[in-house]
Amino acid sequence: MAESGEQERLIAEIRQLKQKQRAVILAHNYQLPEIYEVADFIGDSLELAQAAARVESALIVFCGVRFMAENAKLVNPGRPVVLADPKAGCQMANMITAEALRRRRQELGDVLVVAYVNTPAEVKAEADICCTSANAVRVVQSLPRSPKILFVPDRNLARWVEQETGREIIPWEGFCYVHAQFTVEDVRRARIEHPGALVVVHPECPLEVIQVADRVASTSGMVRIAREVKELVLGTEAGMCNRIRREYPDCHCYPLRRTAICRNMKLTSLDDVKAALQGVVPEVEIPAIVAERAQRALKRMLEIS
Ligand code: SF4
Repeated sequence: MAESGEQERLIAEIRQLKQKQRAVILAHNYQLPEIYEVADFIGDSLELAQAAARVESALIVFCGVRFMAENAKLVNPGRPVVLADPKAGCQMANMITAEALRRRRQELGDVLVVAYVNTPAEVKAEADICCTSANAVRVVQSLPRSPKILFVPDRNLARWVEQETGREIIPWEGFCYVHAQFTVEDVRRARIEHPGALVVVHPECPLEVIQVADRVASTSGMVRIAREVKELVLGTEAGMCNRIRREYPDCHCYPLRRTAICRNMKLTSLDDVKAALQGVVPEVEIPAIVAERAQRALKRMLEIS
């Protein structure tokens, strides 16, 4: 991270460049706190896709991971989109490919495919509808009761949605390594260390962790909860507490585990954002044949969100 004086100079430079390039910077909740300082909008996957769809500026600079920048391109294909650090991928999104999904679909026969937005565009192109953690239950409830649902790629989110909707769901065996590490013991320890705190966990956590927590929420849901409570323990990427402290300084926020850090989400630096605004980062490109089908699945989701 740049030293504080250097950091302030960079932030001022980025703000000027942003104006000059008529750019909008979208940042995920898990980004580093200094990235919040230059962002025009901070949110979770659903909020960022909705914000990207509304952008009318000349350029979208995305601070997050690849599938999110692809989502921005899919919902706003007329705007150039750059991922500030093109190396930032998502390990869970890489646990599935379009070819593997086609094979599985063939094996299962008649199924509806629900793809979590944490997937590459090629995988979304094979899906019937997309979902985020904020709307997964609503998306599944909107589907006909037959045929069965194949939910990709997060098995934990799939199990939670199955519990909440009563629908039979076939999960893909993917997972987020950040959320999959939480245990029931973590929740017990948090209750001893912070007896007055509400324990809220993300639906990417294992189902047994969700079942002992007070609430389950997407990161946008966590921000809303923070408005109402004085003390929170969050079972999600540890950086989420920075977002809560920034928004609601009176809310005491603790990560369920300090080590729950997504390496890819922390790759983007202010230098990367500056480079993206200077035009040295390649634009996100999605082949038209993939984009058209992926857009359909995303659009269906946005219509019911
Ligand atoms: S936190 Fe998990 S799901 Fe999110 S980008 Fe990192 S690996 Fe992917």
